[in-house]
Amino acid sequence: MPVTLIHAGTFWDGVSDAPLGPRDIRIEDGVIKEIIENIPVSKGAEEIDLRDRMVMPGLIDCHVHITLRPEMTGSFWSHSAGYKALLGAQALQSHLTNGFTTVRDCGDMDFHGYTVRDVKRAVEQGLIPGARLINSGHMLSARSGHMDVTSLLSPDCNGWQNNLADGPAEIQRVVREEIKWGAEWIKFAASGGFSSPADDPVDVGYTREEMESLVATATQYHRPVAAHLHGDEAVRMAVLAGVRSVEHGAMASKETLRLIEEKGVFLVPTQYAGVRSARFCDSEEFWISAGNNPYEKLKMRMYKDVLIENARNLAESNIKIAFGTDLGILSYRVNGAVEFSEMVANGISPVRALRAATSVAAELLMKDDIGTLAPGKCADLIAVPGNPFEDITVMEKVSFVMKAGIVCKPA
Ligand SMILES: [Zn+2]
Repeated sequence: MPVTLIHAGTFWDGVSDAPLGPRDIRIEDGVIKEIIENIPVSKGAEEIDLRDRMVMPGLIDCHVHITLRPEMTGSFWSHSAGYKALLGAQALQSHLTNGFTTVRDCGDMDFHGYTVRDVKRAVEQGLIPGARLINSGHMLSARSGHMDVTSLLSPDCNGWQNNLADGPAEIQRVVREEIKWGAEWIKFAASGGFSSPADDPVDVGYTREEMESLVATATQYHRPVAAHLHGDEAVRMAVLAGVRSVEHGAMASKETLRLIEEKGVFLVPTQYAGVRSARFCDSEEFWISAGNNPYEKLKMRMYKDVLIENARNLAESNIKIAFGTDLGILSYRVNGAVEFSEMVANGISPVRALRAATSVAAELLMKDDIGTLAPGKCADLIAVPGNPFEDITVMEKVSFVMKAGIVCKPA
């Protein structure tokens, strides 16, 4: 790879309280070597002129479902693994185009195989372009829980799913199976949800003993645990059981938010898919544009006030917020960067929202080389046509993307 020299009009490193001014960035073999003002151009270096833009770290979306689309009907579950792999490939390409150089998949929706793993492998082998993927395998669920979709099928169908597990022994077996097939995280449905047919968001998905067994097994294999959570009781139980991240956490009480903060657990609030739906849930027009999931519509109308209050309380807390969209539940026609504006609309400061998708996301994912820009770090970087500290919507207009030193979206 030739030496690349980027001229940034202004630069933000993923950590600082504000943009740091103009900088030149020298990149060799996919790694940042130097960031200072005015680096002399060496012979043979490739120059990229971003003097009219702000350069910042490649974004990280900590919660997506590349093999899902919002049409959660019985027919969706009958799609083949091959079709879901194509959905995954399209998703990863669209993340990258929008400036998300890394995403964590929070639940493979191929319940007979391990399609997310295959799509990840295809990107790593350079067979398809796409964002770097961190794989959480399937979302483990109790039978009748949030990720048991068999109630959408006729009882006559063979409803076997590889993610269902009840009781500590079966949970241990399925966790080990997920790890064997490439899970870097273990994800489980610790509470009910909004988009699913047969459960309620305040339902508790597993007993304390089951949650502890799941976390202990994952820990033996050095896999962190992410828990899908809504209802307050389930959030408390999962945090006490030792999960690393609370996904959604949309109905956690003030007291439970304090517990999350004290324990240093990360929260991925997925607010565009959550509290925004709560705000607009009485409008039929909104649901037509949002995929028209009948279960979600009903449950959002029931719990909207709690979601709106929770978002306010979260903004006032000092919890480590990491950025996540729940794309897949949301249509992939949506640019995931809309989550930034939604977070800011709910009282989260622009700098906190921006760190959520850069340095804090990397801390959650335990990936030292991404999420911040400094010498020695991976050259994942993007440019936006403005200052997101003043106008957060510029995050929806990413106009340059580089992943590991390779330009994926030219200036
Ligand atoms: Zn999700």
